[in-house]
Amino acid sequence: MLQYPSREELIRELKQGYDYVGIAFIMATFHIMEEMVDLIRKHSPGTEIILGSYGTVLADEVLKQYGDHICREEGVAFMRRLLGEPKIQMPYTHPTVINPMKIFGKKVSQSGMVFAGLGCANGCDFCCTSHYFKRRHIRLLSSGKDIYNAVRRYHEIDPEMSIMIMDEDFLLNKRRAMEFRDCVVKEGKALSVFCFASVRALSRYTVTEIMEMGIDGMWIGYEGTRSGYDKQNGRPVAEVFTEFRDHGISILASMIVGFPYQNREIIQEELNGLLSLKPAFSQFLIYGPVPGTPYFKHVKENNLFHEYVEETPKEYYRKATGFFSVVKHKEMTAAEIESIQRNCFDEDFRRLGPSIYRVVETWLNGYLKWKDSHNPIMRKKAQYFAKRLRRSYSAFLPGKLFGPTREVRGKIRDLQKRVHRELGKPALAQNLEAIGAIGTSVWSGLALKMNLFQHPRLVRKDHRMPGRDPITPRNALITPDPSL
Ligand code: SF4
Repeated sequence: MLQYPSREELIRELKQGYDYVGIAFIMATFHIMEEMVDLIRKHSPGTEIILGSYGTVLADEVLKQYGDHICREEGVAFMRRLLGEPKIQMPYTHPTVINPMKIFGKKVSQSGMVFAGLGCANGCDFCCTSHYFKRRHIRLLSSGKDIYNAVRRYHEIDPEMSIMIMDEDFLLNKRRAMEFRDCVVKEGKALSVFCFASVRALSRYTVTEIMEMGIDGMWIGYEGTRSGYDKQNGRPVAEVFTEFRDHGISILASMIVGFPYQNREIIQEELNGLLSLKPAFSQFLIYGPVPGTPYFKHVKENNLFHEYVEETPKEYYRKATGFFSVVKHKEMTAAEIESIQRNCFDEDFRRLGPSIYRVVETWLNGYLKWKDSHNPIMRKKAQYFAKRLRRSYSAFLPGKLFGPTREVRGKIRDLQKRVHRELGKPALAQNLEAIGAIGTSVWSGLALKMNLFQHPRLVRKDHRMPGRDPITPRNALITPDPSL
């Protein structure tokens, strides 16, 4: 398995002689898939090509010239069928996939990925994931205990590893989620879990139940106040965001720009509403039609695509990133929608400041809320927040110097004072680290602006290929799993 290969690295690998090569792609990387197919055909003409991942929402007429096989389902079962191997047994042996988290280029933590399910039953009209799996939820880990066992495996590697549960609406299945909570509470260990959840699903839990599961980070679709998706039916979003923040849950909120009911003023109103709730992270994407979704059907049937989309479909594929407007809007041009989207990101940054400090503030809320709790697991969670807060000391100085506005810099200064008042002053080593953080933050900013070293290096993994180049510590982000 190669991630991010250069042309030369791909060609070198192809020379090993493979019967099949699979390419996972999305619409926006269609042009890369196309080039890879050319390279495979040139350098390994006997190899059969399998196309997979969400790029396969495109029709067979488009894809058949590139792939000998097209996988439009959960991939392990597809590959086993293709290779004539026995079906995978459920619950499957969970692979170990670990993502490092870096701040200013320095590794500060790592997350273990738990693959609990695919697809989502909510069926929002723009959602590729949901409609790709025909609004079915495919449970990869069927019980809360299976999920907890996957967490345990990560904690054997690193007892403090954060966990990311990959499931589009993890809290929708209450029985499974509560079973997971029971396992966590029984073990008595405070976890740090990030998951995805809708307002509808999370409204059926108390904040304590959610936090007992270890959840301290959650992606919630705010979308737009008048968007009217079923998944938004539940507690008022303002109430949820405020309560979660006050208890130590960092929210990543996503908002959509370019709904038919929106104009510049309405978007500004919705943005103001979102920013007043102070999410730790915000994402703003343009309402876009992906094949297979009801919105795509609507756009097609009503002839709403901009002309070039039909004329030069490859340009449309490349623009399927959420950062381009490809549909006619009654009140706004494509350029306007794209500039409003940029403005949303800018305002978020200018008004709320960098996300690092928004998360630190949420941890401080969590620490204060739970430090004297009668609930033992939540007292442990408070200590977990305290540890994280102490580790964040060196991040304050760059924020105080380079924060986007005077007001934000002042807020970071106040936050630092509050953290030090609760948890003590930094040691000499932390002060030195803070000075070092100025250099690394300047370098990170420069590297981003000049697009230096932004392309990740090759990650290469072997699965079930004894005798072939073993995994080296450098690329051992994923350990091979005999069941895959
Ligand atoms: S809730 Fe999220 S994952 Fe589910 S259909 Fe809506 S957008 Fe997609």
